[in-house]
Amino acid sequence: MNEAARLRADCGNCFGLCCVALAFTRSSDFAADKKAGEPCGNLAPGHRCGIHADLRGSGYAGCTVYDCFGAGQQLSQVTFAGRDWRGAADGGRAMFAALPVMRQLHELLRHLDEARAHAVAADEIERAWDRVDALTRLDADALLAVDPAVERGAVGELLLRVSETVRAARVPGPRKDHRGADLIGARLRRAALRGATFRGALLIGADLRGADLREADLLGADLRDTDLRGADLRGALFLTQPQVTAARGDAATALPPTVTRPPHWP
Ligand code: SF4
Repeated sequence: MNEAARLRADCGNCFGLCCVALAFTRSSDFAADKKAGEPCGNLAPGHRCGIHADLRGSGYAGCTVYDCFGAGQQLSQVTFAGRDWRGAADGGRAMFAALPVMRQLHELLRHLDEARAHAVAADEIERAWDRVDALTRLDADALLAVDPAVERGAVGELLLRVSETVRAARVPGPRKDHRGADLIGARLRRAALRGATFRGALLIGADLRGADLREADLLGADLRDTDLRGADLRGALFLTQPQVTAARGDAATALPPTVTRPPHWP
């Protein structure tokens, strides 16, 4: 299996972990409350979602935004060797607790896989890949002892260097720095933001219609309900599918090849 495929959710090889392990609250994203560790009422036999074809229409838009980056199948088939949580002595508690850890490790691998394509700090990226990859292969007890924040810090520093090198080469001159900025609801329509960094920035509900976001670093930016209609994100760095799916866009939104156009966009 190639790395990109391994780091994409494969629900057919997962025991529906996200539909059980995670909690959600009745809201515009979820039609009902659910506690962590409690199977969703829509979870059908065979670990399938009974309303998969119409999640948004059924009030479960929040489920369309979640992406495990392949953590579900890794836990189901590798860590727990195909043993279903339904028959587990602990009721699946260890498996459910491991999901957020594995998901964070897989998200780091996804970013490292993207970084490989830039041919910057190649040896360090491969070493970081090997280290994180080895963690994803630990047994359940060892995996639960992993602190993903430590790994995020180490990989984040490396990705920052890759990002700065790539953006400096592609966008010479001054580039806007919005790292960690609170830009909730900001009016940035048609803004010139080529090569800017939005690492960890809050862009919830921001108006970025028609903005130039080419080569922008969007690692960890919160794009929920961000209006990206007509925006140009070609060459954007470390942009993930759940970020794009959570945003608003249209046929004129230009995306990098690392993500796909969400089916609910007009
Ligand atoms: S609605 Fe479907 S996808 Fe969402 S948690 Fe329930 S079973 Fe899973």
